[in-house]
Amino acid sequence: MTPGSKGIIFIGDGMGGRPLPELSGKTTLEAQDTPSLDLAAREGECGLMDPIAPGRPAGSDTAHMALLGYDPLEYYRGRGPFEARGVGIAVQPGDVAFRCNFATVEGRKVVDRRAGRIKAGTDELAAAVSQGAGEIGGVQCIFEPSVEHRAALVLRAEGLSHQITEVDPHEAGVDYWDAKPEQDAEDPDAAQRTAAIINEFVRRTREILDKHPVNQARRERGELPANIVLPRGAGTAMHLQPLEERYGLRSAMIVEVDLVRGLGEYLKMDVVRVPGATGGQDTDEIAIAKAVVAALGDHDFVLANIKAPDLGGHDGDYQAKMEAIAKVDRAVGYLLDNMDFSAATVAITADHSTPVSVGDHSGDPVPIAFYGMGLRPDDVQTYGERPCAKGGIGRMRGMDLMNVLSNYIAASEKFGA
Ligand code: ZN
Ligand code: ZN
Repeated sequence: MTPGSKGIIFIGDGMGGRPLPELSGKTTLEAQDTPSLDLAAREGECGLMDPIAPGRPAGSDTAHMALLGYDPLEYYRGRGPFEARGVGIAVQPGDVAFRCNFATVEGRKVVDRRAGRIKAGTDELAAAVSQGAGEIGGVQCIFEPSVEHRAALVLRAEGLSHQITEVDPHEAGVDYWDAKPEQDAEDPDAAQRTAAIINEFVRRTREILDKHPVNQARRERGELPANIVLPRGAGTAMHLQPLEERYGLRSAMIVEVDLVRGLGEYLKMDVVRVPGATGGQDTDEIAIAKAVVAALGDHDFVLANIKAPDLGGHDGDYQAKMEAIAKVDRAVGYLLDNMDFSAATVAITADHSTPVSVGDHSGDPVPIAFYGMGLRPDDVQTYGERPCAKGGIGRMRGMDLMNVLSNYIAASEKFGA
């Protein structure tokens, strides 16, 4: 590769959208004033990208896998392993991982799935769970708290399966469920065993937590006790080749979402945490952009993601989404002003569309603009879904992004002689 050349994937989470009548038939991206995105589009090479496949709505986890070149259709076995890695559990291939909530129950009835958004004491509660439920029927149960009511659980043993039904009913006012093998589980015996372990784990957490001093104190203060752990989102940990090994690029990730950060950890990227990167509408986009520039000092490749556009999309709030897009524009502006793009290329794109009119992820392709070295600039003048559709890239797959970017920064090896 060209010595010192740098590659960046800069993602506005869920930034793609659909035309809105409120915006005279424009999308939020098309309607917002985005001088820096437009500059990148005008001087760069544009196109559309299907994160996974045409018409296939992508999650943030599967989309980021694809954008980094790991086929989610082949490798994705649930989000649990990324969640667990994100809270610091060294997940191993074959582990079955879950994300968990500390919750409040009365009998079997879920009173609050987040235990009154418990803020303190979960370290002590988790330690008690680890002591009393660290091993069940020969299966190691590794349990770690995360922020507030969140936690992760990893089951480690031979012969487990992630193909079990949920315990967490995902709503309050109803009973929590017993895990059962999924009907089409590939290995029904393994799923049966895993479900039994999980049900026993949940039963023990109920017993251990209900009488724990942290919860006695909470009750005395009139707060809801965190008296059960409800696992959900089971996933089997797969072997994924570390990103650096795969592409020969020293790689960093700067993202706001735990789940994607967990993927970065899983791929052994250097995961950089940025003060002020809140993952919300109030995030400090310039702090994120500065962190990208700083990380490129000793890395060849950085993936960055600003979460905010996705939030406005989910909330059906086009003004919030447009404000978030302005943040992405300012962050990209900082990069354009502060990096040497004669020796770097940035791909500015989204991990999926989250149209305001849908309120969730959709299967629409996302715009992509490459700016920097190695390009063949096209005639596109502004950044957006329909302008980029006319660009020189045409339509590409998320799975090809790392190869395309590596080619621009001359980091690809020739296939064949
Ligand atoms: Zn996303
Ligand atoms: Zn989303």
